[in-house]
Amino acid sequence: MRDYIRRLLIAAIMALCVSLLFLGGKQTEASMQESREIKAGWIWPADGVISDTYGTRHGTHKGIDIAGGLNSPIVAAADGMVGKSYYSNTYGNVIFIKHPNNYVTVYAHLNNRHVHEGQEVKQGDRIGTMGRTGESTGVHLHFESHQIEWTYDKKNAIDPERLLGNAGVGAAVKGGMASTNESLAASTNVNGDKAQYIVQAGDTLTSIAKKSNLTVEKLKEVNQLKSDLIMPEQVLVIHK
Ligand SMILES: [Zn+2]
Repeated sequence: MRDYIRRLLIAAIMALCVSLLFLGGKQTEASMQESREIKAGWIWPADGVISDTYGTRHGTHKGIDIAGGLNSPIVAAADGMVGKSYYSNTYGNVIFIKHPNNYVTVYAHLNNRHVHEGQEVKQGDRIGTMGRTGESTGVHLHFESHQIEWTYDKKNAIDPERLLGNAGVGAAVKGGMASTNESLAASTNVNGDKAQYIVQAGDTLTSIAKKSNLTVEKLKEVNQLKSDLIMPEQVLVIHK
């Protein structure tokens, strides 16, 4: 009889543990969903169109791409200190900013860098200009955010949209603006005389040049294309 009670007790304790495990799991899930959007008060680092989002390319794309005009300004997403400012073969001209709230932001493929290591920057300060240096198929800003520190395997990377607000591929964003849905809607024509074209399957530089009343040479110059090769989804700047 005593043995039976003991077994019953063990079973009851195990059931309690299992149910606590489930409850705990549910709670974590809920709080993770709540924190999907972190209220960091960041601003978009550049004017342009979102051309790729976080987690694409089989999960290897650890940032967000903003395609815009060559040499358009890149601004600091938040106050911080420049951790690194150098040229890398993959990132091209790249700037790392360490923020007081323990995030690190990365601004890659820049044409020019205007800040140096150790420099303090304020939110909205111009830190460089947009380009296509390093491993880049077109003029765009590759922007990453990391918690605590950047590491080579990018294990601390988080989706910048969690700090900037949701913006899917094709959405226009305005550098220097906090992302509310209203600001996104209001900034559809941020580039004035500049327009962007998203390359469709079957397009050639010649067909795009014809459509935009430009020569192929001008298109290549504006977008700093090294060859005639273009890819679907690539964003090209087509000056009017
Ligand atoms: Zn990218």
